Amino acid sequence: MELIFEKSRPGRIATGIPKLDVPEVAVTDIINKSLLRDDVDLPEVAEVDLIRHYTQLSKRNFGVDVGFYPLGSCTMKYNPKINEEVSRLPGFTSLHPYSPVKFSQGSLQIMYELRQYLSEIFGMADFALQPAAGAHGELTGVMVIKKYFERKGQKRSKMLIPDTAHGTNPASSALCGYHVVTVRSNAEGGVDIGHLRELMTKDVAGLMITNPNTLGLFERNIEQVSEIVHRRGGILYCDGANANAFMGVTKPGDLGIDVIQLNLHKTFSTPHGCGGPGSGPVGVRKDLVRYLPVPRVIKKGRRYDWKYDFPDSIGRVRAFYGNFNVMVKAYTYIRSLGPDGLKKASKTAVLNANYVKERLRAYYDLPYDRICMHECVFSGKRQVKESGVHTSDIAKRLLDYGYHPPTIYFPLIVPEAIMIEPNETESKETLDAFCDTMIAIAREAKENPDLVKSAPLTTAVRRLDDVKAAREPDVCWGKA
Ligand SMILES: *Cc1c(COP(=O)(O)O)cnc(C)c1O
Repeated sequence: MELIFEKSRPGRIATGIPKLDVPEVAVTDIINKSLLRDDVDLPEVAEVDLIRHYTQLSKRNFGVDVGFYPLGSCTMKYNPKINEEVSRLPGFTSLHPYSPVKFSQGSLQIMYELRQYLSEIFGMADFALQPAAGAHGELTGVMVIKKYFERKGQKRSKMLIPDTAHGTNPASSALCGYHVVTVRSNAEGGVDIGHLRELMTKDVAGLMITNPNTLGLFERNIEQVSEIVHRRGGILYCDGANANAFMGVTKPGDLGIDVIQLNLHKTFSTPHGCGGPGSGPVGVRKDLVRYLPVPRVIKKGRRYDWKYDFPDSIGRVRAFYGNFNVMVKAYTYIRSLGPDGLKKASKTAVLNANYVKERLRAYYDLPYDRICMHECVFSGKRQVKESGVHTSDIAKRLLDYGYHPPTIYFPLIVPEAIMIEPNETESKETLDAFCDTMIAIAREAKENPDLVKSAPLTTAVRRLDDVKAAREPDVCWGKA
């Protein structure tokens, strides 16, 4: 496909400007020459070229509005359009962050109430809405933990993280100066209690657990885990990015979780991917509320206001107040589903994942064979052994059938991992069609392994050199 610059012809324009009805002034007369750029090489195209170019580009993109997108851990679920519509109301989109509070009461109310809803749903004392993504929420949560121990005058230098945690967890801990120590998993995919007991010493700040973990499994011993961490004065942190497996069903606060971050852009409906806008609110237990970021919305009588004066706060973690637009979508999602709807969404997500797991178990290895939560993790080991077909080949072959592949080679503790997260919005027909395709590929791998190894055959670009594509991205593919 040609670049828009290659379609450019000097003088061609997409729009007309009305004749001047004021005296003409040279731009150099009003703007200092040093501030002007005269080397801008902008494309000159007609409206029709412009529309065709971007429409064609958009058709090469894959998204949840185009098809099934079972990318495990990422929760690429369909986002109800009502949430978009509400978040686009001009009252929200044209509000300046520095608008006086008397003109922004409605928006402050949304932030205040969203915090209350999240606190209620997850059993925490309060939430901070500032963090802009899941990993940013983790960082904020770990900063809170660090401040807590500083105030207590305790020197704790280590953070425990199970080997089934998301990769952002060790990164967040390390950024805060913690030495990361890995806790092993047991045979059923949970935390190895003996190992945790051994590692949980007085110099450990806490445990960052992803629950359900990246195997899609709920930590069955969570109460025991909580007891061990707390007995040594540690903090139990939960990476709650995958809350769509339990929201409305279980409250992390009741399980002994002290700090949790959520991914509103996953569980609470916002299109994401490619670094799109996110929101990673952090919830904490009561005695940690004082450390949360500022400013915070407070309510005085019937009026909302900003309060900056919280002397124990870790301070600000983002400009202004966070990604407000994502909060509006989460608010709308919660209000439109209600408590029963949220519970039903979680239950359906879990049901759908287990359905896929049961339909595929005869064709792919299932390393942890138990009821899963919102996602199921297979291994392509059998295919490698039988015909030399790897998980990456299976993923590429799915492209030929029009599917976005699941997450592969993650979690790291499963060799040749295939991590499928079907989500709650998909129908039985969609799940069946996907499972039929996965079964057909398992058969192809046996009968015609070379075909699978040469996939994709039908896409605009064939197989890329993964390493080169990451190091030297060639964005004008198709051209010399
Ligand atoms: C997606 C995810 C994250 C990171 O969230 P971002 O918004 O991408 O920063 C962290 N932990 C888990 C378990 C996740 O699934």
